[in-house]
Amino acid sequence: MRGPKLVASYAYRSLRYTPDHPLRIPRVSLLLEFLKAMELLEDSHYAESKEASLEELRLFHTEDYLDALRWVDENGKISKELRERYNIGTLENPLSPAMWKGSVLAAGSTVQAVQLYLEGYRAFNPAGGMHHAYPNRAHGFCFINDPAIAINYLKQKGFKAILYIDLDAHHCDGVQDGFYEDNQVFVFSIHQSPEYSFPFNRGFLEEIGKGKGKGYNLNLPMPKGLNDSEFLYALEKGLEIVLDLFKPEVYVLQLGTDALKEDYLSKFELSNWGFLKAFRLIREALGEGIYLGGGGYHPVALVRAWTLIWCELANKDIPKYINDRARQVVLNVDFEEFDEVDRSYMFDQLLDKPNEGEIRTEVKELCQKAKALLHS
Ligand code: ZN
Repeated sequence: MRGPKLVASYAYRSLRYTPDHPLRIPRVSLLLEFLKAMELLEDSHYAESKEASLEELRLFHTEDYLDALRWVDENGKISKELRERYNIGTLENPLSPAMWKGSVLAAGSTVQAVQLYLEGYRAFNPAGGMHHAYPNRAHGFCFINDPAIAINYLKQKGFKAILYIDLDAHHCDGVQDGFYEDNQVFVFSIHQSPEYSFPFNRGFLEEIGKGKGKGYNLNLPMPKGLNDSEFLYALEKGLEIVLDLFKPEVYVLQLGTDALKEDYLSKFELSNWGFLKAFRLIREALGEGIYLGGGGYHPVALVRAWTLIWCELANKDIPKYINDRARQVVLNVDFEEFDEVDRSYMFDQLLDKPNEGEIRTEVKELCQKAKALLHS
């Protein structure tokens, strides 16, 4: 195995969403600044992001949709017809530099991460994981579905058993629907139940795929307030179910950080200790994979969590304290909390105290039901 690679760029600084959008915040560029300040990123471990080619984008997306995105980006305006047909230029999926240029860079970085993985590196693209986009329309802040592109790229390279794991607090509807009838791809997601969370119409337990023979799709829709113990329990049970049915040759892991307790767009209560432990559990069970970012709307929580992921990949000891320079980096972020909770701990130490607790009966029952359903 070769070394770790962080596929990233400071170019994302100017490729932001509109000022009223949850993704207006700095994420990848902030992670870079933070890692540098913490002296956790060596130059040789950094890979500058490259844009995806049209050919790579076509691995999942339709020509007309790509044409529309490019045209709208070049002309800086959008007609009612294009807005309705492609779900772009809306409050959810606004016209901004992130729409085309940012998405193409993030998707290209995911392809780079796959290529680096195939060369033997441990590669992480924090800008990736835009799991809601559909082949011909934007959805849930996502324009280009880079995880789906990664999966099709791997198929093109001859892989016949690809596992996709999604830890984001939201269900990966674009990826699931893209491979729902494909028995070479197993999609496994733990997320907030669609009964109360986006995308509302996907992510139910009963969606087990339509692959030949068995359905290769596992959804674990979870109740509000999920703690570390529950998340890790579901992950462990879920991995058991997956590996009983499927022998993956390779896996793609989406590491959205919105399951963290600080994130205001989800009702999960994970600590970053739980998030890190989940990452360790997956690597212990499956070895190395291809690592992508995902959702995450609290910039400081996100940067702390992805720093832990990076320390793990780079075999670095997790620093106990955030140093003065790095603290200044996160204090400078223009982000206002939505509540009065004291989160000063985020600026002091890197690793949270675990948020362990009781594993509720409904969580256990859901995992049992999932097992029965997929084995039936
Ligand atoms: Zn999400």
